[in-house]
Amino acid sequence: MSDLIDIETKIKKNIPLAPLTTFNIGGSAELFVEVGSKDELVDAINLAQNKDLGITILGGGSNVLVADTGIKGLVIKINNKTLVLKGDRIEVGAGSKLIDTARLANNNGYTGLEWASGIPGSAGGAIRGNAGAHGYYIADVIETIECFDKIKNIFKILSKKDCEFSYKDSYIKQNKSLVIWSAYLKLTRGNLVEIRNKVDSYIKIRESSQPRLASAGCVFKNLSFDDIQATSDKLAKYIIKNNPPKNGKIGAGWLIDLIGLKGKRVGDVKVSLEHGNFIVNTGHGKASDVIDLIKFIKKRMYDQFGIELEEEIQYLGF
Ligand SMILES: Cc1cc2nc3c(=O)[nH]c(=O)nc-3n(C[C@H](O)[C@H](O)[C@H](O)COP(=O)(O)OP(=O)(O)OC[C@H]3O[C@@H](n4cnc5c(N)ncnc54)[C@H](O)[C@@H]3O)c2cc1C
Repeated sequence: MSDLIDIETKIKKNIPLAPLTTFNIGGSAELFVEVGSKDELVDAINLAQNKDLGITILGGGSNVLVADTGIKGLVIKINNKTLVLKGDRIEVGAGSKLIDTARLANNNGYTGLEWASGIPGSAGGAIRGNAGAHGYYIADVIETIECFDKIKNIFKILSKKDCEFSYKDSYIKQNKSLVIWSAYLKLTRGNLVEIRNKVDSYIKIRESSQPRLASAGCVFKNLSFDDIQATSDKLAKYIIKNNPPKNGKIGAGWLIDLIGLKGKRVGDVKVSLEHGNFIVNTGHGKASDVIDLIKFIKKRMYDQFGIELEEEIQYLGF
């Protein structure tokens, strides 16, 4: 471990966080540091712990809502940009972009990450929340993960099994003491032309169905069809007729559209007209507007169908 003084000189005060998020919303970090080595990560965490400061980890900021009042304590942006292809494995630093990771696999003829083309954010954020699209998830290609345990003050390797991945969830997400530092992804040899065609078609789908305005991606998790059926037989029958479940899931965006909330606006944020599960920032959106809109959508959905929507986006600083 290096001298704690070193990390102290790297810590900045009152850093605006909105530009570090895809939503472009929220206040400042009381204290902010970017860590590019294991030593820096450990030093930053130890320093915060010694001073009793809260610790918030930031990746690419593409799935978060930062409070208007900002984040108290120390915000640590993970900057481990390792990205190396080793045979059919990729060693990826948590701070590498998911898009770059997918590109490395795709361009070298390895299949398993085509779905990730076009998804912003870091590999670390993607692993924590088990990011996915088109029926594929990052969990499918995880071999091992290296994490720092803030409580035990040690790095440890987790196997894919240890990570307990499930839909948009993982052991790491449930265990707040863990910070992802790096991972090994295991890919499969594929056909370059087929990989390129898959990437092109996924990007086309994304471009035609998602808004271009600032957002944090899908606000709510999609719903299990079985849960919907258990709640409302009438809605389940309507779904089977009009929008049969894919992989057992029903899009939250489709349901939000169904209850007529596309375009619903609070202040400078609104439900996207292109995709019901995206809230977009049309200019000077505030986190409080997003919260009010989320509350409104959840209440309407519950009143109309008895369905409880659960947020996929993560709240920071609340
Ligand atoms: C236009 C758009 C499209 C999107 N499409 C998709 C999609 O198709 N599928 C999908 O799954 N998601 C999608 N997303 C959401 C988002 O891009 C992903 O969930 C992404 O993987 C989040 O990574 P991040 O680095 O941005 O995480 P952040 O937003 O920075 O953080 C998310 C959470 O992870 C924590 N975190 C971040 N890094 C670490 C780490 N190293 N260790 C521990 N905790 C960490 C943060 O504290 C926070 O709680 C989309 C977002 C946008 C804006």
